[in-house]
Amino acid sequence: MLWPLIFAAIIIVVVVLKYTRPFRPRCPECGVIRQDQQPLCPECGWIYEGSELDEDYAADDEPR
Ligand SMILES: [Zn+2]
Repeated sequence: MLWPLIFAAIIIVVVVLKYTRPFRPRCPECGVIRQDQQPLCPECGWIYEGSELDEDYAADDEPR
């Protein structure tokens, strides 16, 4: 029977995904993984959305 092998393979895949965390946010411009809430991409200077820098710029752009 192959079911025990398939079950073991599923568990291994889950553990690998848990430790490698492939779904970390990446730079949309050059694909570099974002490190520790950096506001800017170190490779191309992309400004990540949701950063404090973006909020500051958005506040400046509001009409008064
Ligand atoms: Zn980048």
